[in-house]
Amino acid sequence: MQKKNKTSRHLVLYTLVIIVIFAALFVLNQSGSKKGSDNQALSESPVISGQPIAGKQDAKVSIVEFGDYKCPSCKAWGEQVWPQLKRDYVDTGVASFAYVNTLFHGDESRLAAQASETVYLYKPERFWDFHKALFDEQPQANHDERWVTESKVLEVAQAFIPDLDQETFREELSSTLIQAKLEQDQLLVNQFNIQQTPTIMINNRLIANPFDYESIRKAIEQEAE
Ligand code: CA
Repeated sequence: MQKKNKTSRHLVLYTLVIIVIFAALFVLNQSGSKKGSDNQALSESPVISGQPIAGKQDAKVSIVEFGDYKCPSCKAWGEQVWPQLKRDYVDTGVASFAYVNTLFHGDESRLAAQASETVYLYKPERFWDFHKALFDEQPQANHDERWVTESKVLEVAQAFIPDLDQETFREELSSTLIQAKLEQDQLLVNQFNIQQTPTIMINNRLIANPFDYESIRKAIEQEAE
């Protein structure tokens, strides 16, 4: 009887030890994966001259979005994160915000980007209205369906530039100047090895989760110090 009790006590003890070891391993694993998702500090910040910039141009903190008009997450980011970010840090002069075209979805990404660069060239003051309106045109249900067409980008541009000359705009879309603008963006995409859209950089910090406002807020506060 005595022996049996001793054995079962040992058994309970061993089980507890095993549970504790598994719990410790689990905690270690969790903190490891959390650490892995942390923002990454790169050696440089993107140079944003020549890009559309919202807010105070020479702000100490520079936020850059690598985005694609064909990307549903970019549309979602513009709706869910950007309004608060703009209110808290761009409108208040703490940070500037630049948008870099990242062509991950073929011809339609390219055409949308060409249109945005053309609008920026003609009427830089209407760029952000056009930018938002073009994302608004992205279908909610099936973003893979073809929606970026020459007549669509022209229609959206004309809504903000009533005196737009359609013929000139069409020609400009594929001009060498606009191609050069897209190449400039592509160089940044390559330089920072951008793998997904949207990618958000705050100075030289690459934000691990662009939808984590708390993480963005912390990075901005640290850079603004
Ligand atoms: Ca650009």
